[in-house]
Amino acid sequence: MAESKQVNQPKSKNKSGRYSAEIKKDKCKGCALCVIHCPVRHLAVSKKLNKRGVHYAECDPHHQCIGCGFCYVMCPDACIEIREEE
Ligand code: SF4
Ligand code: SF4
Repeated sequence: MAESKQVNQPKSKNKSGRYSAEIKKDKCKGCALCVIHCPVRHLAVSKKLNKRGVHYAECDPHHQCIGCGFCYVMCPDACIEIREEE
C-alpha cells in the first residue's frame, strides 16, 4: 500500500497526482452531502449499516478521487480526510 499523508487543505501541491478520501464510517450520519457533491462519484452510500444504524458514505474504488476537497468541506460532522499519496 502506498504511503500517504493527510491533506486537510484541499488543492495542495502533490507529487503523485493521486488522492484518496478516508471516511470515519461509524461517525457518519448518512446525510449523503459528500456523495452528492463529489464530482467524480468516488463516494457512494453503502448498503451496509454502521454502529449508528445508518447507511454510511464509502469510497467507490472504480472512481479515482481527484482531491478537490468538496466532501471535506461539505461534511457537517468532519468525518472525512483527504490524503495525497506519495
Ligand atoms: S476530495 Fe473531491 S473527488 Fe475526492 S472524494 Fe472528496 S469530493 Fe470526491
Ligand atoms: S457528509 Fe459526512 S456525515 Fe454526511 S454522509 Fe458524508 S461522511 Fe457521512
